[in-house]
Amino acid sequence: MQKRTKLQAIVACKCPQCRQGDLFEKGFGFPKAKEKCPVCNIRYEKEPDFFQGAMYVGYAFSVALFIVVGFTTFYLFNDPEPWVYAAIIIPLVLILSPLNLRYSKSMFIHIFGDFEYKPESIAHKKG
Ligand SMILES: [Zn+2]
Repeated sequence: MQKRTKLQAIVACKCPQCRQGDLFEKGFGFPKAKEKCPVCNIRYEKEPDFFQGAMYVGYAFSVALFIVVGFTTFYLFNDPEPWVYAAIIIPLVLILSPLNLRYSKSMFIHIFGDFEYKPESIAHKKG
């Protein structure tokens, strides 16, 4: 069985309690969160609309992306016209939004989800 740090679990989108089970259904595009961990069986959504709070994390990600891409555009194109910024930043934010949603939810559940890392929660199952 593989042990993960909190950061690795966030990046890999794993369960906050056992760090083994997947947070999301497999598939391309916008991530769909599973109801329960397939490994340790905790409910991810402790209350209805729990993941609403992940919007704020996603918003912070978007702002960070705007700033980084904005500065990159500024230096690469030597302070271009405003439409150049828009033409680069808007499609990029849209293309990255499924990823943004995935990682903001993963980060949100790990940091604000009030779950404890319990490696023993999977001890009774085969890894
Ligand atoms: Zn789990």
